[in-house]
Amino acid sequence: MSRIAGKDTKPEMRVRRLLHVSGYRYRLHSKCLPGNPDVVLPKYKTVIQIHDCFWHQHKGCPDSGLPKTNTRFWEEKLSRNVERDKRSMGLLGELGWKVSVFWECETIQASKLRMRIANLLDHRQSAEVSSIHDNAN
Ligand SMILES: [Zn+2]
Repeated sequence: MSRIAGKDTKPEMRVRRLLHVSGYRYRLHSKCLPGNPDVVLPKYKTVIQIHDCFWHQHKGCPDSGLPKTNTRFWEEKLSRNVERDKRSMGLLGELGWKVSVFWECETIQASKLRMRIANLLDHRQSAEVSSIHDNAN
């Protein structure tokens, strides 16, 4: 296994680049939040987790198949990852963050990814704009 669940992986870079060109400001790997979310958008109270389909076991995805050897080891290891994800998402939700998971296989098509980001954040933005408006003067 040469795949490493590291930082600055390609899918994450794709998401970050799109956020950047769309003018969204974000923070990375915030240590103050449960699960060190990959991308944090404080203004939108939204975090984006970019999950590798294998390491985080994307259900039904062809990329999530377990290795044919040491299957049991992988099963246990990966199910621990899934449990950890669930736990940190629950905690983030309790803290009032909206959590969105982008699976690696969903980040490949830029047009789809762009639409998804727009849907996720424009919605939130309109809520914020109206509250700013309410507070003006
Ligand atoms: Zn997938």
